[in-house]
Order: sequence, then structure tokens, then C-alpha cells
Amino acid sequence: MSTPPSKETQFTALVVDEAAEGRTAAAPRQLTLADLPDLPVLVEVEYSSLNYKDGLNVSGAAKIARRTPLVAGIDLAGVVVESADPNWSAGDRVVVNGWGLSETQSGGYTRYQRVKPEWLVRLPDAFTTLQAMAIGTAGYTAALCVDRIVGHGTPAGSEVLVTGAAGGVGSFATALATAAGYRVIASTGRSETHEYLTGLGARSFIDRSELQGKGRALGAESWAAAIDSVGGSTLVNAIARTQYGGAVAACGMAESPGLPDATVMPHILRSVALLGVDSVMAPAHLRAKAWERLERDLPDDLFASVPRVEPLSTVPALAREILAGQVRGRVVVDVT
Ligand code: NDP
Repeated sequence: MSTPPSKETQFTALVVDEAAEGRTAAAPRQLTLADLPDLPVLVEVEYSSLNYKDGLNVSGAAKIARRTPLVAGIDLAGVVVESADPNWSAGDRVVVNGWGLSETQSGGYTRYQRVKPEWLVRLPDAFTTLQAMAIGTAGYTAALCVDRIVGHGTPAGSEVLVTGAAGGVGSFATALATAAGYRVIASTGRSETHEYLTGLGARSFIDRSELQGKGRALGAESWAAAIDSVGGSTLVNAIARTQYGGAVAACGMAESPGLPDATVMPHILRSVALLGVDSVMAPAHLRAKAWERLERDLPDDLFASVPRVEPLSTVPALAREILAGQVRGRVVVDVT
């Protein structure tokens, strides 16, 4: 079991600080426990991950950190070392997604971090801390989306559209919606991913171009529900083609944050619900439920290939690569 480091023990963290011309920049820094926030639970971090938002933050391309200096990294997985909160004790394996890590709170790119007890999710036994970060925010958000459409009452056996299906959120959503008993219609712009998506459970495909551009206010009723990580005209058309009483869980904006030419017609004539999904501030009970779904339903195929694991020292270079669209698949960051 982990023991707390001494007060003098130094460890490396990737810290974002002010740089020239009002920008921010990230650099490795040696910290001690005294540099961490005064929060009740000390976690020995094993892995974090690299996400688009981390790329923006670490490269300084956008101002993600709203106060500085601040440790970067939007998520973390590790082991509790000591806790002033009775709900957590040394040895507990935990994961933190979101909660403003790297934006308003000190983040996951560090060997040790102090966090609020309510941010922690107990890592299911089925997963290693490395797998938790391979699932990361993408997998956990997909689980939140499936929970929303199930909670809406989408009947098992009905068709569910997943947009951006070959992306991070989309591929987890395809697998989890299939496991929940739905027939997934996968929308993707990459036909070379059909085999992969079929392996995750997709029953049929729709080219993403079919959902783009200006459509009719009400289209043919094609699916009982949709999970959308794309936004823009894709979301508008996904809503317009949802069956009477159905629901669309919207979590992303890979195409656009806009809703061009959207009308209220699907909502007022077909009682279609638009369900927003946020992972960052999601309350603890929704997180726990989402991780239970991941533990119960994730197929082994998603872990068939070992995720790419990179040391903390490579994150500044990887940050530039992810912004340039040069990073494929999930990158787990080893902070040990
Ligand atoms: P990825 O880049 O892995 O996947 C996005 C997918 O969207 C792509 O693979 C592609 O799917 C599709 N896509 C990309 N550009 C376009 C376009 N112009 N038009 C139509 N489809 C497009 O990203 P993630 O899955 O990790 O994230 C998806 C979105 O979800 C992002 O906007 C992200 O910010 C958001 N997100 C939101 C969260 C929340 O808390 N609400 C949490 C996590 C992510 P294909 O290749 O199949 O065509």
C-alpha cells in the first residue's frame, strides 16, 4: 500500500503558467506536497490521459487554465494515499474525470494530487488504472449518454443512431448502446471503420454526409433515439428524423456548436426530447452509474490493443500533435 511521501520529497508535474504576450505555457516543475491544494484526499496518481482540451492547454493555443500556476491534465487515475474524509481510505483505487481539473483546479499531470472527496469515483475491480485512463472522458461520457436514452424510456430492441461513430465518444457509445439492447445505426465519414464498428455491435451504417446540410424540419422517422457527439447540421437532422416520443442525447460539437436552421417542429409535433450531456460537472451518482455500465458492458475488443502509453515528458510535443490531428486513438500518460 502507498505511504505518504515526506514533506521534502520532490515529484515532477507539468505546470501551466503565464508566458509572454498574455499567453500561457506549460513546463515541467519539481513540486512537493506543500505545492498541492489544501484538499482532503491525497492521491498517488498513476496515469492521466491526453485529450484535445489538454492539447489546447499545454500548447498555450487557448487559455484553458483560468488561474495560474496550475497543474495541467483533465483527468487522473491512481490510489488514495491518505484521506481526511471518512468515505475514502489509503489503498482505494480511484478515478477523477473533469470537475475543472486543469481549468480551475490543479490537474492530473503530476505524481501526487490532492482532491475533494466528492470528485472521486471508486474504480471498478474490472479495470486497471491504465484502462481507466484509456476509457477516459470519452468512454465515461458515452456511458452518460446511454444512461440518458435508457432513462428516457427508449425501448430495448429499438434503433439508435450514433453519430461520429468512429470517434472516441462514438465508438464507446456504439459498444455500450449495443450492450444495452439497442440496434445501432452508426453514422461515420470513414467507411474503412465499418468492420471495426461492426465488431463493436453496429448493425447498419449511414454516411455522415447524409445527415449534413439543410434538411427538412421533420424527416422520415428513422430511429427511436440518437447519441450525438457532432452537433451542427448533423444534430439538427438527427433530431428531425427521431421517432415520435424519442430522445437525442447531445454531448459534443465535432462538426459545430451551432444548430443551423433548427426548428421546434420535432419537439412540438413529435415530443422529441433533446437531452444535454455534460461530463465535467456531472454529479457523483451519475458518474458511479456510468462507471458501473462501463464495467458491466464494455466488450474486451475495446482493450484488445494495448493503448498508447507515453511518459509525462512527451506531453508538450503530443499537445502540438493532437491539435494538428496527428494523434490516433487514445493516449494514456504515465506519470510514475
Ligand atoms: P473524436 O475526434 O475522437 O471524434 C469525433 C468524431 O466526430 C470523428 O471521429 C468523426 O467521426 C466525427 N466528425 C469530426 N468532424 C466532423 C464533421 N465536420 N462533421 C461530421 N462529423 C465529424 O472526438 P471525441 O469523440 O473525443 O469527442 C467528440 C465531441 O464530444 C467533441 O466535440 C468533444 O469536445 C465532445 N465531448 C464532450 C464532453 C462533454 O462533457 N459533453 C466530454 C467528451 C467529449 P467519423 O470519423 O465516424 O466520421
